[in-house]
Amino acid sequence: MGQEEKRLAEYGATTGDTVRQATWTLLRAERTAEAVCHVMEKASRQAAALVEQAPQRATHACAAGCCFCCYLPVDVTVPEALSITVYTQTMLTSDALEALCQRLETTAAHVRGLSYEEHARARIPCALLVDGRCSVYPSRPLACRAWSSTSMSRCKEVFHGDPVTMLPPLDTDAYDAVWSVARGVAAGVKQARLDSKTYELHSILQRLFEKPEAVSQWLQGENAFAGCTIGAFTG
Ligand code: SF4
Repeated sequence: MGQEEKRLAEYGATTGDTVRQATWTLLRAERTAEAVCHVMEKASRQAAALVEQAPQRATHACAAGCCFCCYLPVDVTVPEALSITVYTQTMLTSDALEALCQRLETTAAHVRGLSYEEHARARIPCALLVDGRCSVYPSRPLACRAWSSTSMSRCKEVFHGDPVTMLPPLDTDAYDAVWSVARGVAAGVKQARLDSKTYELHSILQRLFEKPEAVSQWLQGENAFAGCTIGAFTG
């Protein structure tokens, strides 16, 4: 096998277990919100590197202002939700934060009770989308990072067609590699004996804004997110 073939074959191969180990090590050493954010900083950097190193990187069509995929349901783990919450509280003005809380409340109510398919077909914009751009881009969920399109026009067709049955034009190597990061985070959280389920994005963000003590309860192993909508693909 040549060097290039070997590089492609190894792309993303050991990522999941490396991330699990790093997540578990950090949470074992320190059970604080800061440690959880550190977990997500490392995981996000790893996901970004995998997208940059993707064998099909040159075909990626995603660009600022293109947001067809931001109308699809997004599921996140607790560390991802906490990282987004901390980012908004650090980076947004108080007016922007208040507007976000209102959008979260409205959108969470809108999507509550919908199946994944119903949510996708309803084309409800993510509450974090502002003027066509992700307002938490540096902290965006791993599911969003996994979504590398190879055709903006095809994304548009899917958006206006049926986002459930039509195949999006994804770089599947990058998608699988970034998902292995997400699975590694969940596995490390589970190994730390914390709730590792995924939750619907708006549902869990609304809980974190309304009940900040949910973080310390979760870190103590309590079922802090009871009543939030469990993610469609939680195993
Ligand atoms: S979190 Fe950001 S990237 Fe993900 S769906 Fe929402 S607006 Fe889009």
